[in-house]
Amino acid sequence: MSEPILADLARRLVLTALCGAFAPAAWTASHPRIPIWNARDIDAACGDALSSARARVAALEELPLSQATVERVFRPWDRLQILLEDTQGPVDILTNASPDAATRAAGEACLLKINEFGTELFQNEKIHSRFQRAAPADSIDRKLKKDVMEAFEDTGVALPPEKRARMKAILQRLEAVQQTFSRNIRDNKTRLAFSPDEAKGLPASYLEKARRDDKGNYLLGFEYPEYEPFMANAENEEARRRYYIAFNNRGTPQNLDLLGEATRLRREIASLYGLPSYAHFVTRRRMVESPETVHRFLDEVKDRVREIERKEIGELRAFKAERLGKNVQEVTLNRWDLPYYQEQLKKERYNVDQEALRAYFPTDASVAWVFAVSGGLYGVKFVPAKAPLWHPLVRYYEVVDGKTGGFLSGMYLDLFPREGKYGHAAAFGVRSASVLAKRTPISVLVANLDRSGLNHRELETLLHEFGHVLHGVLSRTRYASHGGTNVERDFVEAPSQMYEEWARKIGPLRLVHQYCKGCPEVDEALVKRLHAARSFGRGIQYGRQHLYASYDMTLFGGREVDPMREWIRMESETPVGYVPDTQFPATFGHLVGGYGAGYYGYMWAEVLALDMLSRYGRNLMNPAVGRRFREVILARGGQKPAAEIVREFLGRDPSPKAFFEEITGQRGD
Ligand SMILES: [Zn+2]
Repeated sequence: MSEPILADLARRLVLTALCGAFAPAAWTASHPRIPIWNARDIDAACGDALSSARARVAALEELPLSQATVERVFRPWDRLQILLEDTQGPVDILTNASPDAATRAAGEACLLKINEFGTELFQNEKIHSRFQRAAPADSIDRKLKKDVMEAFEDTGVALPPEKRARMKAILQRLEAVQQTFSRNIRDNKTRLAFSPDEAKGLPASYLEKARRDDKGNYLLGFEYPEYEPFMANAENEEARRRYYIAFNNRGTPQNLDLLGEATRLRREIASLYGLPSYAHFVTRRRMVESPETVHRFLDEVKDRVREIERKEIGELRAFKAERLGKNVQEVTLNRWDLPYYQEQLKKERYNVDQEALRAYFPTDASVAWVFAVSGGLYGVKFVPAKAPLWHPLVRYYEVVDGKTGGFLSGMYLDLFPREGKYGHAAAFGVRSASVLAKRTPISVLVANLDRSGLNHRELETLLHEFGHVLHGVLSRTRYASHGGTNVERDFVEAPSQMYEEWARKIGPLRLVHQYCKGCPEVDEALVKRLHAARSFGRGIQYGRQHLYASYDMTLFGGREVDPMREWIRMESETPVGYVPDTQFPATFGHLVGGYGAGYYGYMWAEVLALDMLSRYGRNLMNPAVGRRFREVILARGGQKPAAEIVREFLGRDPSPKAFFEEITGQRGD
């Protein structure tokens, strides 16, 4: 895995599932579609949603306490969440993916208003006391009550009035900080010019697609399909150095200030609650329950990874020396060398060439394959259907029951990069399932893939995001706020990381060929080579993940630190060190978003993901296990604690064994 991939962001709704009510026919129909609003529509929808929501809150406030039952509190609550989600869901995706800048700006303004409304709602003592009074009759209702009561508490309902007002101001400011931070990256139009000489080593297919200036230079920006192949293939070290430094400055200078501000505001949140740190505030609601558990886990990772990382770096340095015809002592291995020499070493040692792999995985065929594999495992079909779209290249599908053809949910794919679009890969849970409200879910897969063919990493990304999407579209929860990916943040990455495995095993991979007759066939030998190639670089990759997670925990830990200085200190301690003039933290959107004190969750969830894989044994295509996964994990969303459903699926307590074997390269192919 090359340096800049931070995995993705699984988008969650604010707080439990806060969200809106402008409801055109297309949105309320039995096969709902996302309404394609422009800036003016968004303003109107937002205004309508909030005034209807206020009316519902007022009605709920008037319910006599003695009549506060599940029936009279939880159900109206679910309808209120749905009302908000009906605006927030579409607005969130349009803000991140609409080609129209005015729409995106209107979306941001609307999301700020909904955020503010959400804070007011969760600080509302009257609603809080009605929830407190209602007595749940079963475990799902009990879980809802627990989640909602915690959200009230975490928003400040029990704080004294002054602190409560301050909490509201902080939460509002944090939302604005997060928006500006991502906008600065999303709208960064910087392009670097590289001469044909500097682009040597890149495949012809890449160069043919690249923009050029009138002098014949290639103009390259920060989209993954441009940046990553360049870093892995450009022979010219100086060109790679220049691109690396620019890429690691793409959010600056303002984002560094914003990150600092987010850190201070969250520190203040912790102090309002009398907690030692924001990490304490966050982890008490997660699987790990405390920062200490996270630190212990990270230490264990570090112990396993340290030596492997050093060994790999040593091998790469020797490889670089050999390529340059120098003594090892004469060469330094730099950050901008890591993707390049890993790629070259993998070509030479394992005969794995990421660019050549695109021929095996044409993009359309890969999508058809993911549909077929998912359909077979989970007993569903993906049927292309007509829908209004925010961009002509977006596609809409209906997810239907494999046997009856009955409609289950809707799904959009927005796969290719373009200006002003969200730059990572992510799944947006636009609409949550609610059995109570007969509400079917909708998810959107957003990525920035190569249009003609996928390399192996992109294939993994597609599966990863599809794993999130399935969590959304196959959920069958009683309440909307438990739908899909509304689970503990340190569990949310488990189904998605688990699904990456389908890109690594011969069982599923040999089927790709059925969707692309003219393509070379994936055979056992290729899968073995891919496995061997993947095993190299594990130390480097998990060493990096460990650094990100430790940095995150430090930033939101008990000691006040300057984000940039702390990053320099921590990255300097790694085997490859810190590169002067880079400002990576200013590009680290996870930290100002919902992954603050939560980045460790990627590795924590991977422990569970790899453990759950063991249920499939050697046959990833086993539909019986697939159905069970759908039933126990996907369908249930957040209506049971993650620890419980994982145990139920495994039939035992989870074990980190498979994960530690994975990071030390001992897990079999
Ligand atoms: Zn993810």
